[in-house]
Amino acid sequence: MNASMQLRFKPAAQPLLSVVVPVYNERAVLPLLHARLTAVLSGLPLRYEIVLVDDGSRDGSDIDMADLAARVLHVRAVRLSRNFGKEAALTAGIAHAKGDAVVVLDADLQDPPELIPQMIEAWQAGADVVAMRRRTRAGETATKKLSAHLFYRLLNRVSAVDIPEDTGDFRLMSRKAVDALGQLPERNRYMKGLFAWIGLPTTVLLYDRAPRAAGHTKWDYLGLLRLAFEGITSFSVAPLRIAMVLGLLTALTGVLFGGWIIAKTLVLGEVVQGYPSLIAIMTLLGGVQLVSVGLLGEYVGKTYFEAKQRPLYLVRDIVERRQTSRSVGV
Ligand code: UDP
Ligand code: MG
Repeated sequence: MNASMQLRFKPAAQPLLSVVVPVYNERAVLPLLHARLTAVLSGLPLRYEIVLVDDGSRDGSDIDMADLAARVLHVRAVRLSRNFGKEAALTAGIAHAKGDAVVVLDADLQDPPELIPQMIEAWQAGADVVAMRRRTRAGETATKKLSAHLFYRLLNRVSAVDIPEDTGDFRLMSRKAVDALGQLPERNRYMKGLFAWIGLPTTVLLYDRAPRAAGHTKWDYLGLLRLAFEGITSFSVAPLRIAMVLGLLTALTGVLFGGWIIAKTLVLGEVVQGYPSLIAIMTLLGGVQLVSVGLLGEYVGKTYFEAKQRPLYLVRDIVERRQTSRSVGV
């Protein structure tokens, strides 16, 4: 902690920092997470709270986190009724955070808590969003790195908002940014896109992503593919346009081809033949049509789920230690 930061706040008016952590089957890392977070946060000239969100864990993380929250004053456990997915868990945690600034990080310590002081400095310097950009990703396979790289580039090509490459959910948001995020009502929450959508002054800091401290990743390729597709369809209608352009191109080809056959028959007097080409064109057209209808269905389906207006998550309970009126902290 540098001296200039310590001078910045009068003790009575120290801002409150919330750290939101989505947790799904992370029993093995919870103690270490708490230890490392506390070591960093207790050294800062701020008040702080740690909001742990249990996303329907089945390995007892929910029990451990409730124990912790019942014992330790600055930890709150928000336990969801089942597994809703990381995006919903994050949304729940951010909604339950009371801080003047909110830091979001992964439970597995891939986002080092030791960077929080730097993030706070950037926030104090005027940033509403401090996004953390991965310089390296240790402990991840080359295929995952390559697919992530390609995905971010594709997403930026097709979406209207500029979604910073290689930044994950690890970030700090000011109260203003958190409230702005709270105004986005959509059910399909692609958080990286939503974070980018709100805009506001953003500082990007570079960091080295650590390997998982313990446990296993919750993502498989199918899950990542689904998230990628979700990201693209939530933030762009480019796939629909591509389908339209494809339709126009095939129609144009059809007209040209038809013209050529007529000309050939009239001028050269050739007998019309071509069963193979007929089949090839029919299957091509059928395929293009089905893909386009499927794509359209994806967007219609999205609208359908938005229209239902179901809540994004359900909270089973919130565990926190009862505060006495004299207690400091949160
Ligand atoms: N997570 C969650 N709900 C889920 C899946 C994951 O809350 O359905 C949490 C998980 O506990 C971790 C974070 O999201 O804190 C990132 O998950 P993971 O480390 O498995 O993803 P990766 O870092 O491999 O992309
Ligand atoms: Mg991880």
